[in-house]
Amino acid sequence: MKKTLAILLAIVAVLGICLCTAGCGTKEKEKLVMGTNASFPPYEFVDDNGNIVGIDAEIAKAIAEKLNMELEIKDMEFDSLIPAAKAGTVDMVLAGMTVNEERKLSVDFSESYAKGVQVIIVAENSDIKTNDDLDGKMIGVQAGTTGDTYCTDDFGQDHVKQFANGALAVAALTNGQVDCVVIDNEPAKNYVAANKGLKILETVYADEDYAIAVSKEKTELMTKINKALAELKEEGKIKEIVSKYIKAD
Ligand code: GLN
Repeated sequence: MKKTLAILLAIVAVLGICLCTAGCGTKEKEKLVMGTNASFPPYEFVDDNGNIVGIDAEIAKAIAEKLNMELEIKDMEFDSLIPAAKAGTVDMVLAGMTVNEERKLSVDFSESYAKGVQVIIVAENSDIKTNDDLDGKMIGVQAGTTGDTYCTDDFGQDHVKQFANGALAVAALTNGQVDCVVIDNEPAKNYVAANKGLKILETVYADEDYAIAVSKEKTELMTKINKALAELKEEGKIKEIVSKYIKAD
């Protein structure tokens, strides 16, 4: 009886040690929360398994690894992203976000990691041939984007219809609710490939730089992000991620 008890105690002790090395040993990593709008392929989109993937998601993952932090991605509407960074509900925004002076009043931007171009999507048989034909038309945009700002400034609020994301704007174009969509070139290519009867005009609306937005209060994090980004560029990792999602035409 005593022997059985001794064996039992020994088993319990060994089990305890095992559990402790498995559990207590791995200290939980600090979280790095990325905010995005996962309707912007190939920068961010939801894959068949329901995961948020894309260029921005992979760059964020690589940054988190360098910082020894655990990445968490929060999906929200594009125009909620800067408020979320300001409020601290996300640590950084990667959303194919263009650097501009207005946004710089609210958040800080990292070094740029990609170029963007605003282009115009129209129906294949559209009478819109260049930017000059946009006057008097109904333009679909994603609310709060630079495309939205440019078109509202150039053609007036009454000629701009805002949508919560690119997919909805393109759906409205397919339904004939708007005459064109102004959006970034890479998502534009994806949407045109996925929807019959659409094309991208050759004329470019604007050239832009994408960067990571961080709260003005998180200067230490911003420094770390820029350092990680510089290393990733140097290692060729950014190029590798980009070429995985964007095939040279
Ligand atoms: N580049 C555009 C902007 O920053 C659009 C980004 C997006 O829709 N995710 O406004």
